[in-house]
Amino acid sequence: MSKLGLYLHVPFCRQKCFYCDFSSYAGAEHLFVAYTAALCQQIAEQGGLLCNPTVDTVYIGGGTPSLLPVHLMEQIMSALYNNFSINNDAEISMEANPGTVTRAQLTTLKASGINRLSFGVQSFNDDLLARLGRIHRTPDTMTALEYADAAGFNNISIDLMYGLPGQTAAGFARELEQAVALHTSHLSVYGLKLEQGTPFAAAYDQGRLELPDEMSEEAMYDLMVDVLPGKGLLRYEISNFARPGMECRHNLKYWYYQPYLGLGAAAHSFLKGERQSAVAEIEAYIRAIKSGCSPVAMREILTKEQAIGEYIFLALRTTPGMILADFAQRFDIDFFSQFACVFNKLRQQNLLEADSKRIWLTGRGMKFGNIVFASFLTD
Ligand code: SF4
Repeated sequence: MSKLGLYLHVPFCRQKCFYCDFSSYAGAEHLFVAYTAALCQQIAEQGGLLCNPTVDTVYIGGGTPSLLPVHLMEQIMSALYNNFSINNDAEISMEANPGTVTRAQLTTLKASGINRLSFGVQSFNDDLLARLGRIHRTPDTMTALEYADAAGFNNISIDLMYGLPGQTAAGFARELEQAVALHTSHLSVYGLKLEQGTPFAAAYDQGRLELPDEMSEEAMYDLMVDVLPGKGLLRYEISNFARPGMECRHNLKYWYYQPYLGLGAAAHSFLKGERQSAVAEIEAYIRAIKSGCSPVAMREILTKEQAIGEYIFLALRTTPGMILADFAQRFDIDFFSQFACVFNKLRQQNLLEADSKRIWLTGRGMKFGNIVFASFLTD
């Protein structure tokens, strides 16, 4: 059986970025201690319930986990080691934002077992950062990376965004060069999406936010795809690039349909074909854990049809694509006996390709993945 991945959610941010609909809250620092206590309690309970399972990846995401005082993060790490069998070579990632880290903090976190950092850089253009509502500027990014280096981290990822208001393809090309020059092991690059309920979506609806047109956005996407592999950052998923061997093992679990347990407010789990998510509101989560109630707010057992659709959709996000033998073994059906018609149509559109072992998205398919995914997902 696959080893377990753990996701821990830290739902605190210094301020909300204008585009963000993640489950994170600003101005909730007074809940740091109570939240950490609840999270440690849930870690202990779940570790016990699952009989101390072996874990080979941990991802501490948010929010901004680096906002949590370091002694509280140490408590969380101790709880993990006390209640789960963490492999010696486990990948233990933590998200961090420039402007929220110190050298001493990162040194302590490295000693606590965290061995991979993912920095929310998003842009190297300070005007764009201000427009996004980010708390940091480029000098903060450079300082954070220096601190991470001094603390001994050699597995560092940065996030970048394109399609930002006021961004041009030429400007994004310069940002890609800046990102590459940092020699990090991993780069995630996402196009801006307008999410309902965010200040950006409201501003756009009111005509106060101008975004790059479709052609410019496509040019930025093409730059990302063309530039990064030539610089040693190979694409292994639609939005993710890594130096060989430095792919994010935790995220690969999501795409290869392996089990993971989410802990904390709003955290999602996928165990034994069941998806769950916890209540998002921080105080509701703390109350549930303290009173011995389940924090689970949503539970869904996937039908075989749903599971097949999800499996295909997730595996196709990766560059190698979906291994046909793995699919047949998991679902006890031959892919082509069920999907020949859909596959042929997508292949004619130069979106999908196959050989005797696997199917994968073409370069065009990666760009227009949503067309492919919609063909396989049931609803
Ligand atoms: S730092 Fe990240 S999680 Fe926090 S508000 Fe900004 S985008 Fe959202």
